[in-house]
Amino acid sequence: MIIDDQIYDLIIVGTGAGGGTLAYKLAASGKKILILERGNFMPLEEQNRSNVDIFKRERYHAPEQWYDSAGEPFSPQMNYAIGGNTKIYGAVLTRFREQDFETVNHQSGVSPEWGVKYADFEPYYTAAEQLYQVHGQVGADPTEPPHSQHYPFPAVSHEPQIESIVEGLTQQGLHPAPLPLGLTRQTDDPTNDSEVSGIVPALKHPNVNLKTGAKVVCLHTNPSGRVVKGVEAEIAGQCYLFLADLVVLSCGAVNSAALLLRSSSDRHPNGLANSSGLVGRNLMKSLMTVVVQLSTKPNSGAFPKTVCVNDFYGGDRDFPYPMGHIQNAGGLLTDIIFAEAPPMFSVLAKFMPGFGLKQLATHSIGWWAQTEDLPNPDHRVRVEGDKLYIDYTPNNVEAHDRLIYPTFRPLTVTSR
Ligand SMILES: Cc1cc2nc3c(=O)[nH]c(=O)nc-3n(C[C@H](O)[C@H](O)[C@H](O)COP(=O)(O)OP(=O)(O)OC[C@H]3O[C@@H](n4cnc5c(N)ncnc54)[C@H](O)[C@@H]3O)c2cc1C
Repeated sequence: MIIDDQIYDLIIVGTGAGGGTLAYKLAASGKKILILERGNFMPLEEQNRSNVDIFKRERYHAPEQWYDSAGEPFSPQMNYAIGGNTKIYGAVLTRFREQDFETVNHQSGVSPEWGVKYADFEPYYTAAEQLYQVHGQVGADPTEPPHSQHYPFPAVSHEPQIESIVEGLTQQGLHPAPLPLGLTRQTDDPTNDSEVSGIVPALKHPNVNLKTGAKVVCLHTNPSGRVVKGVEAEIAGQCYLFLADLVVLSCGAVNSAALLLRSSSDRHPNGLANSSGLVGRNLMKSLMTVVVQLSTKPNSGAFPKTVCVNDFYGGDRDFPYPMGHIQNAGGLLTDIIFAEAPPMFSVLAKFMPGFGLKQLATHSIGWWAQTEDLPNPDHRVRVEGDKLYIDYTPNNVEAHDRLIYPTFRPLTVTSR
């Protein structure tokens, strides 16, 4: 192993929403910072989401296999690149609601109270909205929590077809509101992400050093086993050891847990920071369904998602449990979720024979429905030898079905 001859104040593992934002915030401190990222910068053409090539299946899945509880391999949706999953995300930057931090009774169980509250997060939401240049409108959505400052930019206007749907929903007594979106006007790709907002400005500081293609494989403690001191990474087939006073794991929920579990030693036989046995457990993953509405009127197929409906967030008259959030999915030619589900187009084709992929996309409006699931200790990240297992079964399904079916009857394509 090659031992790096420098000692850093801080090592950040990963450059996604967590790592990229932290690097930006700490860069001006003058501390000696090393950022280790297993991916590389994404070439511009890879980022160009208006390209029809996005429909190529699993383009943004990691070149590795994980396993489900039954031992079946799958290719996870993990974008290993500078910016992590924010390079492909929808940039919808909503705040949690105040009640999300309290004990919440869901139809299939209880989501426990948090140790921190919305008020603790509020200043950080405000700072992040400035950094990620969020466009939105405070006060339009009755479920929205208090903001100490307005969004830094006005909300993005709706596409004409969406505008008429918004009017219809309002007449029905619902409260459609502008979606808060992180956008920047400075690049060809309008979506803001943690490379653009975090890593690039952080690297302007001489005290910040980035190593790409650096896959962290293990953390090492000091001899007493109490403090993490060393970070082992593979770079171009070689093993390197980097030393720091402070190490931040921000390589995503699954990979951060897997790294702690893989850093077992005589002192920590069940993995690092895992005396509770909870590392990797209570894995949560929202329930999501995309609903496609066919329209006789064509649209550009490339408009942004702009509207959300949160009237069922906490439940309704007939179902007093949280159901979730609805947003329009944006033009089907630009939405990543449709790259995930090419078979959907063959379903659509049955309804509109003679239509090609592009025509189908330009005669459709997508809707995205999302419901919280519940923490369960049996839902977990598990490491056995070299293999990474994800044990997970969807729960809180009735709440999700209630969100979809009364709202959308005609044709739904589920992507759970
Ligand atoms: C298609 C899609 C759409 C989404 N849309 C939205 C949205 O509209 N709004 C929203 O709020 N959220 C959205 N999300 C979720 C959001 O992208 C994630 O919650 C967020 O990126 C998580 O940030 P993170 O820093 O924890 O991890 P990530 O962003 O996943 O970053 C982790 C980083 O760590 C690196 N890494 C992993 N393992 C290692 C290792 N061993 N060594 C070194 N580096 C490593 C990865 O390469 C990556 O760069 C979306 C996600 C996807 C996939």
